[in-house]
Amino acid sequence: MEKKLIIAIDGYSSCGKSTFARAIAKELNYIFIDSGAMYRAVTLYCMRRGFVSEESIDRNGIISELNNMNIEFVYNPDIAEYETFLNSENVEQEIRGIEVSSNVSSISKIHEVRARMVELQRQIGVFKGIVMDGRDIGTVVFPDADLKIFMTASVEVRAKRRYDEMISKGIKANLEEVRKNIVVRDITDENRDISPLRRADDAIVLDNTRMTVAEQMAWVHDIIEKKINGR
Ligand code: C5P
Repeated sequence: MEKKLIIAIDGYSSCGKSTFARAIAKELNYIFIDSGAMYRAVTLYCMRRGFVSEESIDRNGIISELNNMNIEFVYNPDIAEYETFLNSENVEQEIRGIEVSSNVSSISKIHEVRARMVELQRQIGVFKGIVMDGRDIGTVVFPDADLKIFMTASVEVRAKRRYDEMISKGIKANLEEVRKNIVVRDITDENRDISPLRRADDAIVLDNTRMTVAEQMAWVHDIIEKKINGR
């Protein structure tokens, strides 16, 4: 039987990690897990419950509700993609908006939130044959992943990509606001105490500033072949 891999894709916000991870999962017939969507869903839940305001975050309220947040990825055959569900509600659209984007880094700093998400992510990982993208997949969630890729690209290119994605999904957006949000999230993600964004020592760096998805797939093809066949 063919060896099933765990592939960890980490990197900066809006580098196209999900697009790349999804493409790899499709090619290998693997499960794709967007760990950022999980943190986004938690953030949306907290915002709706009034745990997040401009001035403060109700940490205890969030921690006490962690077990009441049921996050699932449900396949939508119409678009041939998985969508994020929070307590049986499709929140795919809402979690990508600027409100959730502005609050998610503060929520994902909370130790208990991370512990719960990592636990859920590892449960999914026992099946192998998965591609998971995020910030700490190769460093914390799956330190023994078979393949680790760390993605980066220029801030300008990342802002434009996220902006185009939002517009194409019918989400209101402003390019400069999106750019600022990315810069702030980079800083918060890199400087938080728990699981800061950093490249695992054994991760391969992919700077895709000037690469199409097809070029990235061509780049990763041989790397994956070698991992599967041990050549
Ligand atoms: O990947 P995406 O940009 O959707 O992630 C949203 C946010 O979730 C990140 O800015 C980061 O704060 C948080 N996150 C995280 N750890 C992960 C994935 C995402 O802290 N593994």
